[in-house]
Amino acid sequence: MKKKIYAYRQVGMALCFVLILCGCQSHQGHQFYVNSRIMMGTIVEVTSPDKRAAGIAFSEIKRIEDLLSKYKEDSEVSRLNKLGKSVVSPETFYILKKSKEFWQLSNGAFDVTVAPLVDLWGFTNRNFTVPADEKIKNILNLVGSDKILLHNNENVIKFKFPGMKIDLGAIAKGYALDCAVKKLKEKGINSCLINAGGQVYCLGKKFGRPWRVAIRGPRGKGVVSFLELADQSVATSGDYEQYFIKNNKRYAHILDPKTGYPADSGIMAVTVIAPDGLTSDTLATAIFVLGKDKGERLAKRFKGVEVKIYAQDSL
Ligand code: ADP
Ligand code: MG
Repeated sequence: MKKKIYAYRQVGMALCFVLILCGCQSHQGHQFYVNSRIMMGTIVEVTSPDKRAAGIAFSEIKRIEDLLSKYKEDSEVSRLNKLGKSVVSPETFYILKKSKEFWQLSNGAFDVTVAPLVDLWGFTNRNFTVPADEKIKNILNLVGSDKILLHNNENVIKFKFPGMKIDLGAIAKGYALDCAVKKLKEKGINSCLINAGGQVYCLGKKFGRPWRVAIRGPRGKGVVSFLELADQSVATSGDYEQYFIKNNKRYAHILDPKTGYPADSGIMAVTVIAPDGLTSDTLATAIFVLGKDKGERLAKRFKGVEVKIYAQDSL
């Protein structure tokens, strides 16, 4: 008998700003604008007292998505995945350099070369399957960021083996928010909240007080805490955003690059607060793979970083 596979995707439910309506709103006599758009595979919501903020943020996020998305056929990442070698823009080169740096720091837990594994498990096209051990072992030969060769002076990226691919799903959103914030500041906007499906950046304050961000419980348990943030980013990685269940076992989208299987470190969700989006995004994914002890040790190496870990069955 064919076993049923249940698939779930809770776009943007990990973390959610309290206000979700679009348009112009008023709060204690202050006016602000809330706009949302589907981008980078999620709902991006921009809140600011400045009417221009959403347009600026959306166009910058789109620019990054066009460069780094593996789902866009003409992105630099897709070209690299297809050819195995490519000249890229300085920005894409920078992100690959950062990804490798993070791979090293996390002792291999954060690894953008998991792409062929992400495909094998069906997370790319949502055709979920539990692959045979043998298949996973074979694909593991293509995994490892040491197999990405970066030629600094020409912005050339080369994969060591044919069949290698990269997936920037665990870093691109964080970086896109950083780029958006930089553009907003350049235009003189210093109060804005961007929520890209749980990847959040709080620029400045909201009418003199920190932005308030609600953290939702991983198993639909409502709000578990509130954060007050100013010029900070917060990201959550969990086993409940993209996953499928087969034979009563949960298989989630963050993979352990060492085993080729979904990470199983005892963490249900991890929330990372950091001064920038790239750090919160990458750290959340890495800690989810590493588990509590190693994850907290890694986080201590970063200035201004705070971590909240929700262990499996802790809520
Ligand atoms: P989300 O994108 O839901 O916010 P993450 O930031 O944790 O969650 O990114 C998870 C995505 O990153 C996966 O969907 C996959 O594309 C990719 N990925 C999976 N495992 C790893 C890993 N160990 N290191 C880097 N990227 C990963
Ligand atoms: Mg991440």
